Amino acid sequence: MQDRYGHRISYLRVSITDRCNERCTYCMPQELQEWLPREGILTFEETLRLIRIAADLGVSKVRITGGEPLTRRDVINFIGRIPEISGIKSIGLSTNGTLLAREITPGETMAAALRDAGVNSVNISLDTLDRETYSQITGRDFHEQVLSGIDVAIAAGFGQIKLNTVLMRGRNEDQLIPLIEFAGARDLILRFIEMMPVSTTDVLDEDNFMSILEAKRTIESFYGSLMPETGFRTNGPATYYQLPGRKQRIGFIGAMTNLHFCESCNKLRLTCDGKLRPCLGSYLEFDIMRPLRAGASDAELRQFFLDVVDRKPREHDFRNSYQPNRKMIAIGG
Ligand code: SAM
Ligand code: SF4
Repeated sequence: MQDRYGHRISYLRVSITDRCNERCTYCMPQELQEWLPREGILTFEETLRLIRIAADLGVSKVRITGGEPLTRRDVINFIGRIPEISGIKSIGLSTNGTLLAREITPGETMAAALRDAGVNSVNISLDTLDRETYSQITGRDFHEQVLSGIDVAIAAGFGQIKLNTVLMRGRNEDQLIPLIEFAGARDLILRFIEMMPVSTTDVLDEDNFMSILEAKRTIESFYGSLMPETGFRTNGPATYYQLPGRKQRIGFIGAMTNLHFCESCNKLRLTCDGKLRPCLGSYLEFDIMRPLRAGASDAELRQFFLDVVDRKPREHDFRNSYQPNRKMIAIGG
């Protein structure tokens, strides 16, 4: 699958729920959230069929996200069926980490079950090492659970674990160095993410936005010049650097300030309510649940995917007074 700007689509980000056990300020609307009714959510069978069709069209990597994907019942069985899909070479999971250490059967943690089900890369959100600040950001007192979730994930032996930190002025700007040290001590890749206007609009403003450039300056004033690693890429838009004198790698995701951000985009998103979304930062989305439930053939659904990819914009709209039509929690990041 290739769009009209030459983006080759090989990566499908699949949100399996709009529900979450946390309430991060930058992700959830602050007014009371109404969850989607169950019949409005793609069943796992439907989701697997769409992944299969995407794989036929060249998708080789999927990432399961949400909401918090680990809150959905039977998630392990669902993920365990993805490796059967021919063409899928990599399965990622994005999680807030709160449930990774939970024992799902005696002696078996959620993290170990996910690894056995075929997950090779896990992204865990961690914005601060301070418990109080964590509670303020997420609305929940789950800091300890996340820290043990990270340890348990390391012990489970995933191919790759990354920590994701959303930059927030006044909230976690004092945490950049502690988080780098935390990640370094565990041999994990840490990535700093610029906040995007995909929540209530008032969350992102001049008072709380912090650019990756500013984060880099803070880091460099502490460690010395960062060394760009142009040869290293994961599947996403992050740019990576090495800390001087160390093997440690850190990444930056600058959707707002990096003008080249969209050039290497290889992604398509499937929301839990069955919308194909060609770009996180564009209003465009297309309801594939309707034809799916109306009995469309695989060939028709394949054509649907191709039509959506053809509508993929050259770049996101975040810098053009974008007003979110959907919250991040409903898209899946
Ligand atoms: N619940 C999981 C988690 O927190 O990792 C997966 C879903 S969450 C929507 C995926 C990622 O999006 C997380 O790393 C989160 O920090 C990030 N995110 C959410 N809202 C954001 C925003 N407004 N700007 C930038 N990143 C955001
Ligand atoms: Fe939940 Fe993740 Fe959104 Fe936080 S960022 S509210 S953990 S979906």
